[in-house]
Amino acid sequence: MTSARDLSARLAELLHYERAALAEFLVALADFDRKRLWVELGHASLFYFLHRELGLSSGAAFYRKTAAGLIQRFPEIVDPLRDGRLCMTSVVELAKVLTPENRDDILPRFFHLSKSGAKAVSAALRPNDAAPHRAVVTAVRPTPAAPAPALAAPAARDRILESPFHPDETPHANPVQEPIPTVPASPPRTAVEPLTADLRRLHVTVSRRLMEKLAAARAALSHSHPGASEGEILEAGLDLLLERHAKRKGLVEKPRREPPPAKPDHVSAQVKRAVWQRDGGRCQSPIEGGGVCGSTHQVELDHVVPRGRGGPATIENTRCLCRFHNQLAARRVYGDEWMDRFTVRRAKRRVLSGMKGARLE
Ligand SMILES: [Zn+2]
Repeated sequence: MTSARDLSARLAELLHYERAALAEFLVALADFDRKRLWVELGHASLFYFLHRELGLSSGAAFYRKTAAGLIQRFPEIVDPLRDGRLCMTSVVELAKVLTPENRDDILPRFFHLSKSGAKAVSAALRPNDAAPHRAVVTAVRPTPAAPAPALAAPAARDRILESPFHPDETPHANPVQEPIPTVPASPPRTAVEPLTADLRRLHVTVSRRLMEKLAAARAALSHSHPGASEGEILEAGLDLLLERHAKRKGLVEKPRREPPPAKPDHVSAQVKRAVWQRDGGRCQSPIEGGGVCGSTHQVELDHVVPRGRGGPATIENTRCLCRFHNQLAARRVYGDEWMDRFTVRRAKRRVLSGMKGARLE
């Protein structure tokens, strides 16, 4: 009969293999990223490669992408990851504070910490930060028979998921796939928690539909408000609502100005609309394994045959591309040397002259 001690030794052995395999994976991933091989496979970032090609969940992809990036700058984190001193979930916090100057001092402070412990250390190292902006989504399911609760069932609150995604990397699918905590059916409640003189934290119950609209608005504003928080997006939406209300009431002082006359390279609104609808507002750059990139971040219109090379501004010659793939396409046409003479925005404006005014915001 196998004793508890034997099994324990076996588990310790397996854990050792697991950590070693993870470290090997991350080292290989860092090398893959250093050579930017994900570009060759058609992806817009390492995150998209991990999420779509390797099938990792959004959270798992984010942790690994962060670790691979950190390994490239600080190879000394590999050994602690391999022997278990450093936990994957601490790497994101470590990445926020590790610098070439403080590396010897800071790294050991993250050893043997849980995710929350690592958060506390990184917060303490960044004392001047304002109150943190948090985007938290918790899935809730009403149960009709339960008694009326306080603000929210503590069990549900405890399972709050903090979004670990950089705005550039919000995956296509809804990332909230965690077990659904149950909360009693009660009227949606709203609570406001003062954080500082100006900042408030708002807890509000919303529908899945609203979350989808929020994601779509974030994608739509990814040009004009890159990296905008949920709060900023909602505020921009409320500004529009209030502006419309003011117009209805005749409160707007200036009449709307006439739009300037169209330029010769102008892409008509009809073409923009049709292309946007056809492509679903998603990047159409093909990925090597089949399908398309599908990113909704900073999507721009691209001419398959560039305007500068005689391509027409037709629906057939126009497609949606994310900024990364649009620039990649331009580099393939015009070459790195030419593109490097321009900043990112200038390159868009001047080299792809046909695209002026075609950006979707
Ligand atoms: Zn793309």
